[in-house]
Amino acid sequence: MSEITPATLYVVATPIGHLGDLAPRARAVLAGVDAVCAEDTRTSGLLLAQFGIVRPLLAVHEHNEDGIAARLVERLRDGASLALVADAGTPLISDPGYRLVRAVREAGLAVVPVPGACAAIAALSVAGIPSDRFCFEGFLPAKAGARRERLAVLAAEPRTLVFYESAHRIGESLADLVAAFGAQREATLGRELTKRFETLLGPNLGAIAAAVDADPNQRRGEFVLVVRGNEDREAACLAEGRRLYAKLVAHLKPSQAARLAAELSGAPRKVLYDGE
Ligand code: SAM
Repeated sequence: MSEITPATLYVVATPIGHLGDLAPRARAVLAGVDAVCAEDTRTSGLLLAQFGIVRPLLAVHEHNEDGIAARLVERLRDGASLALVADAGTPLISDPGYRLVRAVREAGLAVVPVPGACAAIAALSVAGIPSDRFCFEGFLPAKAGARRERLAVLAAEPRTLVFYESAHRIGESLADLVAAFGAQREATLGRELTKRFETLLGPNLGAIAAAVDADPNQRRGEFVLVVRGNEDREAACLAEGRRLYAKLVAHLKPSQAARLAAELSGAPRKVLYDGE
């Protein structure tokens, strides 16, 4: 039975490393659609070729997505079937595609998920860190100031946090995470998941940062960092109160800044005011 329905956009996950992770249904859909929309047509062309699949490829990336969505909607209206893939893993997860998906759905046409690999979920599944609730943070800001500001906000987050990181920033980001969350915060770094040099490091940010610092091989490849949330409510409120106070005191009298920061964070006003 054909997997393909006309006038449908299939959002297809592809492997994050190990080719054996391409699901049989994903393979059938990619082989059967009229065209495959890909961020990088060369990368996806090579992937398809490894499975003996040859399909027309259309470039859909951050810079042309809005423009091309209307044309793809027209093709779907004419009865075409299309697949959307990312370079690796699940489209739309730190990858382009949401504008296209939205345009297709707004046009009343079908969008069908063909699920499979996703680096964030793969890392969570092996981290051994509570995963009943988690926040996917994607990539931290590239600039040090913005990154530290973001981490200061996240330091109080009670849910498990999941970050993506690249080889050229993993060292800096880990150093900033240690400074913002403390070396003892439980964490797992997943590197090169499903690939030859797959590594899991833990058990906390300090140990991971030291291991990555000591061995250049640990700075190669692709990374997902899973960090346990801040479950100490009192400490989290205080950290958030101090962060807010530091911002507000630039604009208000110290007593007003302390009152407002205490109200917003739940931290004791006096502790903020006294700077204890
Ligand atoms: N859409 C993809 C997904 O579903 O995971 C993510 C795309 S994002 C542009 C690329 C980032 O995902 C990498 O920088 C890395 O943080 C993470 N990543 C992708 N493959 C990975 C792997 N095999 N091991 C560890 N991290 C990976």
